[in-house]
Amino acid sequence: VDEDTCMVDMARYFLDFVQDESCGKCSPCRIGTKRMLEIITRICEGKGEEADIDKLINLGNMIKDTALCGLGQTAPNPVLSTIRHFREEYEAHIRHKRCPAGVCPGLVRAPCQNACPAGVDVPGYISLIGEGRFKEAVILHRENNPFPGICSRVCPHVCETKCRRQTIDQPTGIRQIKRFMADQDKTLSLPEIKINLENKKKKIAIIGAGPAGLSCGYFLARLGYAPTIYEAAHRPGGMLLQGIPDYRLPRQVLNKEIGILKKLGVKIKTNVRLGEDITVRELRKTGAQIVFLGLGAHRGSGLNIPGEDKKGVVQAVDFLRDHNLGRKVKAGRKVVVIGGGNAAVDAARTAVRLGAEEVTILYRRTQAEMPAYKEEVEEAQKEGINIKHLVSPVEITGDSKVEEIKCGQMALGDFDKSGRRRPISIPAKTFLLETDMVIPAVGQSADLTGMINNLDIKIDQRGFIEADPVTGQTSVPWIFSGGDIVSGPATVVEAVAGGERAAVGIDKLLSNKDNAFWRKYKEIDTAFNPDEDPVDYLRVKSKTLPLSCRKGNFKEIELCLSEKSARKEAKRCLRCEYKKIAPQ
Ligand code: FAD
Repeated sequence: VDEDTCMVDMARYFLDFVQDESCGKCSPCRIGTKRMLEIITRICEGKGEEADIDKLINLGNMIKDTALCGLGQTAPNPVLSTIRHFREEYEAHIRHKRCPAGVCPGLVRAPCQNACPAGVDVPGYISLIGEGRFKEAVILHRENNPFPGICSRVCPHVCETKCRRQTIDQPTGIRQIKRFMADQDKTLSLPEIKINLENKKKKIAIIGAGPAGLSCGYFLARLGYAPTIYEAAHRPGGMLLQGIPDYRLPRQVLNKEIGILKKLGVKIKTNVRLGEDITVRELRKTGAQIVFLGLGAHRGSGLNIPGEDKKGVVQAVDFLRDHNLGRKVKAGRKVVVIGGGNAAVDAARTAVRLGAEEVTILYRRTQAEMPAYKEEVEEAQKEGINIKHLVSPVEITGDSKVEEIKCGQMALGDFDKSGRRRPISIPAKTFLLETDMVIPAVGQSADLTGMINNLDIKIDQRGFIEADPVTGQTSVPWIFSGGDIVSGPATVVEAVAGGERAAVGIDKLLSNKDNAFWRKYKEIDTAFNPDEDPVDYLRVKSKTLPLSCRKGNFKEIELCLSEKSARKEAKRCLRCEYKKIAPQ
């Protein structure tokens, strides 16, 4: 049983079995388990209601207490224990109409689409590309996610991880095909927009022009609103601009896609900082009916070791932000980066491009556990970055500035809650590394100082804003929030999804109706023949910029597929949404 097993479906299976086996002599077992099976079947079909979990618990406990024999008394156990340990899966079925494992047929069209946090119709746009209908494909993508060009470059592509084609050979190259599609879209094709003069008059303020704020603005604009986005930096983009380097996400791609917001009439006011230039209360006083907070998680976490306040220790987010916003940044000669995520690898590769002679990444687990994308880690190694695994910093030393870093050797212990093996230190084994710059990249937290004073916004234990997972509404009804400031550091596509959920939540609050027309499934007319055998060739590989062309510049590394290759790759899609191939 792993993350591909649906706990709700498993409990349903057991109840079905009990119903078959029940002798029917006592009503708790005969009738009670039948009612439980009806409820759980309804949940699996996406028709569950908020009160269903409590109903299942009450019924289950009653049946346990009153059934006459062992079969009846134990019948509710699979339901009760799956609710106890996997309640979030039940909630996902009921509240989000999503089966996280991708199992329940009533909720899952295709595993790739189900896995995408933004719910993009992956098989739809892939098949349109296969037929050369690029404009229709990009419009279909923008129904649920305005940024195909950005996401084709930086998304963790969970869609590919769940692609059923890998049971035959390799997953379809969804990200590469999408990249080709987005690069063809020179005119920024837009999906349906509803003009609504009433909505246009309602004032909505969005703080933060990262993917969450931009996405919230995009979906509100499609419902006829004209929100204003306030951004502290001099350019919009959030971590897309301030964190992710150009060699992964060229600025012309970012600027082009942000241009969609302008096309939709969303105003973006830059160089305006919440807490300094404006406050939420002032926005409210000047007529904002709703405020959305998409502030991100911009404070780098500390290492908690002696010497980390020395000159020459620079947080990865600060190092990258300064460089990406055009401030003069000098990399050290011998740079040590600490961490194993995308931010660590981005900082290391940026340091190489800024002239560092030697760059070493220290990571406390093994390479297999590094959260950074595998291809990024491989490219970093090709660029000469040395990754030392099972190593953790113990102390940073030096007189006035960083000179050495003392490192401790680690080993892997038992599995922790994240499912990875916990690193444990081997006290006797330490060594020294000479360095003149240390870049910690071990996590990010929220910095809400001076931003939400005198507002009753609930903050969770980690310091992030608490918001309703379905609507993004905070404990202050007219304030909504989404993206990293709610989830903690996550991904671009999750921030896009958070912005969309909040836009729908805001509209529901203002109009008392569900107007999210893009969420309704659209039938696409394609030439796919489900009776044909799948094509039998392997995945097309995209090329990368030769190493000799990367020195001292930030040119994009991954190159785009040709039209022929993109369309050929698109034909590898199995079109799982057709019932013949979808899970039974
Ligand atoms: P942000 O993108 O952080 O945007 C928040 C915005 O709010 C910023 O523009 C900020 O300037 C603005 N803001 C903050 N405070 C104020 C204020 N007081 N007043 C006005 N404006 C304010 N994700 C991926 O999916 N793929 C990747 O490859 C990837 N790589 C990453 C690499 C790095 C180095 C980092 C740091 C992150 C990476 N991420 C990646 C994570 C991803 O960038 C974030 O999850 C995403 O950007 C979060 O979006 P957001 O809109 O919530 O916040």
